Amino acid sequence: MVLPTVAIVGRPNVGKSTIFNRIAGERLSIVEDTPGITRDRIYATSNWLTRDFALIDTGGIEMTDVPFMTQIRAQAEIAMNEADVIVFVVDGETGMTDADQDVAQLLYRSNKPVILAVNKTDNPERRLDIFDFYSLGLGDPYPISAVHGIGTGDLLDAIIAAFPENAETKENPDLIKFSFIGRPNVGKSSLINAMLGEERVIASPIAGTTRDAVDTRFVDNDGQEFLMIDTAGIRKSGKVYETTEKYSVLRAMRAIDRSDIVCLVVNAEEGIHDYDKHIAGFAHDAGKGILLVVNKWDTLEKDDKTMKKWEEDMRHQFQFLDYSPIVYVSALTKQRLVQIPEKIKAIHKAQNNRIGSSVLNEVLMDAIATNPTPSDKGKRLRIYYGTQVSIKPPTFVVFVNEVELMHFSYVRFLENQIRKAFVFEGTPIKILVRRRK
Ligand code: GDP
Ligand code: GDP
Repeated sequence: MVLPTVAIVGRPNVGKSTIFNRIAGERLSIVEDTPGITRDRIYATSNWLTRDFALIDTGGIEMTDVPFMTQIRAQAEIAMNEADVIVFVVDGETGMTDADQDVAQLLYRSNKPVILAVNKTDNPERRLDIFDFYSLGLGDPYPISAVHGIGTGDLLDAIIAAFPENAETKENPDLIKFSFIGRPNVGKSSLINAMLGEERVIASPIAGTTRDAVDTRFVDNDGQEFLMIDTAGIRKSGKVYETTEKYSVLRAMRAIDRSDIVCLVVNAEEGIHDYDKHIAGFAHDAGKGILLVVNKWDTLEKDDKTMKKWEEDMRHQFQFLDYSPIVYVSALTKQRLVQIPEKIKAIHKAQNNRIGSSVLNEVLMDAIATNPTPSDKGKRLRIYYGTQVSIKPPTFVVFVNEVELMHFSYVRFLENQIRKAFVFEGTPIKILVRRRK
């Protein structure tokens, strides 16, 4: 499923990031919990009235040493490239400015639905001032106050009404969508070219959005169909903002959302960076399959302990990815490259794995027998039964007497027991705890 995407644009200080945070909510994830990584988010997924969508705050993509107007024009351009619906934010307190008119001119030409939000409309008197903004020619202005949470419901209704019809097209469930993600120069393009050199590429891109046109479809010798999702850093078009770190993270996150499986590529010469952990955390939170790829293996002076040392270091750095396989490859010498499609297929199988309830409950009951459930103030957690409720990622619901008695560490224990009993290589699994009524 391709998520419809909403981008927020507008001058600095009109309230874009306040609106973003209000819509995206404050869910804390592994990504934000990892020390040393930036907390200011520019990309999130959210939902309103059962519709899921992706949200981008273009204001967070800052370019240093460029004039003010170049900066906001570039942000508007990003919105026009990436989004299905654009929310153009103006400031009801300061009123209309030349820059607003300039951005409106650009957005006109996008052929994308634009929704005009007049922020800082904190009280009813200010609502009278919104009429000036009709002159921008973008239709009805929506008065909102992001700080006070006024008007955001109407704004979201308008956003959802503007989503394209085909945003949630049905797809072939056997198609494996994957992407190579990683810092510049780790060898993503080389890996892609080496892989495509071996496979039969299907020329016609999938009908649909223009974004899909840069993706590549191919079939392997077993007849398995793949869709390789393109990411920035692979095919560049030369725009100013493409070199910014934030934009590259944004493109990586978008590619992850569109992929079933993410191949996170690190360079054996350089080791692991915060960027890699950030991206891996995002993929984990999104429930995607993850393959860790150590490329440029040919550049290392190796002895019989090198791989073991790398394994230990990778496991230490990516602790929450203990389920992900690691491959050590060289795009240059083609060493072990065959393992990449093999592992991708294995992960795809694992993330689509469905476990029958009776065998699942045998595993759960054995687990409880070897490690008694926690108790608090004389009250013991009772686990009645569990069932798998979905795939991609495999998700289990465990019914208990009291949700509060379940510890994080016991959930972790149950996850480990499930992983020991069944094959869930490369995929996160989710365990939800519910009270049995
Ligand atoms: P951005 O640069 O467009 O992302 O703007 P910010 O979200 O950082 O907001 C800029 C300033 O406007 C901050 O001081 C916010 O607290 C303030 N602000 C945002 N929304 C509102 C609002 O609805 N009413 C008022 N009065 N202030 C707001
Ligand atoms: P990208 O920016 O991640 O797409 O990286 P590229 O595929 O453009 O590769 C960056 C550089 O690393 C190029 O000079 C490649 O020839 C080189 N390179 C890529 N893979 C390997 C490898 O496995 N071994 C060695 N020695 N060099 C590699």
